[in-house]
Amino acid sequence: MFEFDTIAAIATPIGNGGIAIIRVSGDDAINLVNRIFEHDLTKMKTHTIKLGYITEDNQPIDEVLVSVMKGPNSFTGEDVVEINCHGGVIITNKILDLCLKSGARLAEPGEFTKRAFLNGRIKLNEAEAISDLIHATNETIAKHAISGLKGKLTKEINNLRENIIEILADIEVNIDYPEYNDLPNITKDKIIKRLNSLQIKIENLLQNSKSSNIIENGIKTILIGKPNVGKSSILNTLLNEEKAIVTDIPGTTRDTVEGKIMLEGIHLNLIDTAGLRDTDNLVEELGVKKSKALLKESDLILYVLNNNEKITKEDLDILKEYQDKLIVIINKTDLEKNLDLNLLKGHSIVETSTINNTGFEVLKKQIIELFNIEKINQNDNIIYLNKRQHEALDKANNLIKELINNIKEDTPIDLLPIDLKEIWEILSTITGDVYDETLLDNLFSRFCLGK
Ligand code: GDP
Repeated sequence: MFEFDTIAAIATPIGNGGIAIIRVSGDDAINLVNRIFEHDLTKMKTHTIKLGYITEDNQPIDEVLVSVMKGPNSFTGEDVVEINCHGGVIITNKILDLCLKSGARLAEPGEFTKRAFLNGRIKLNEAEAISDLIHATNETIAKHAISGLKGKLTKEINNLRENIIEILADIEVNIDYPEYNDLPNITKDKIIKRLNSLQIKIENLLQNSKSSNIIENGIKTILIGKPNVGKSSILNTLLNEEKAIVTDIPGTTRDTVEGKIMLEGIHLNLIDTAGLRDTDNLVEELGVKKSKALLKESDLILYVLNNNEKITKEDLDILKEYQDKLIVIINKTDLEKNLDLNLLKGHSIVETSTINNTGFEVLKKQIIELFNIEKINQNDNIIYLNKRQHEALDKANNLIKELINNIKEDTPIDLLPIDLKEIWEILSTITGDVYDETLLDNLFSRFCLGK
């Protein structure tokens, strides 16, 4: 157990509400509130509540309910006292002030939760789930945050960590006691098999998290292609409004234009881009650079071709590079076909005409299929990973892939423990079993006061 001073803060939103709660936590919490409460709190049993007056110089300040939760079975793991007072700003601040005068220090944002983590009451990812719940902007996020609080992710990560320890133990025992013939012989094939199954579990978690991300943030979709192929017109048709400027001078869509449409409850966040082509015009060049960056970070690329024009090498290069997240839209099908369909083998293709308003239902259907949207909607078992957790898991995943390759290329078994330990440590940062102070400060400072 860490030794901390006693902290206090208002745990409810500031304003005139029916009730406000002042939370006090630390070794001295009970004695400290005892000095300003009319009854003797030191005689109270843990997890009980007492009605009475908060007083200053024997004058009543407010009639309150005081609850006492003794450590270690409290939120922070320390002695916690909560004062439920009448919710006016003046009264609430006055009582907090009395707590501070009585010896408490004003808590920093997230400090109660930080203590809960440092005292081993919750895992780091569970602390983050609290923050996600506080900041949830819709019901789905709140649902994921609650499942995070219940420790679903913690369980998965602990399971992965145990798997690594088992592999490590088997390797170490073979290195240390090669002379014991009755030990199960650990061969490279066996290690590869176990690492493969570990990697599949991680991939599943990452995949699962991708779904949750889509529910929360939508599908980041970019419309891209040569100038004048009809990107802005397609965007307008999809959005059904005149958001992007449509002209027939190549290169007029200089910056990105955004709009949202809803597909089966999932947002498609549409971004129209400047055309991908070399240009001497600086303003446009900036737009082109931005387009290329967008290609990388998007979830879905709608690559637009003109049915009436030949496909260029540049088109084909992009199609090839981003094939797995790309749908080709062949637009202007009301005009004569001058494009060679044979060059597009292996790609998802939709033919549209914004003039005749055809092909758009097929396009939506393809997107729904590509992202398994129907399945995502039915899945209640989604485990949400935030950016920090996702990055760590992704890093562990890549290291395992690398390790498998190295073993295949004859890295001696004796060297594997070093890499396995590193992977174990990375996974441990997700639950906070391994952490650094800067990360903690950064993370908890995002909390509200009193949490
Ligand atoms: P962008 O530069 O790719 O954004 O292309 P725009 O949407 O600005 O369209 C360029 C020109 O093509 C405009 O004159 C549009 O009216 C025209 N256009 C767009 N879609 C179609 C289509 O399906 N058929 C025909 N014939 N013309 C189209």
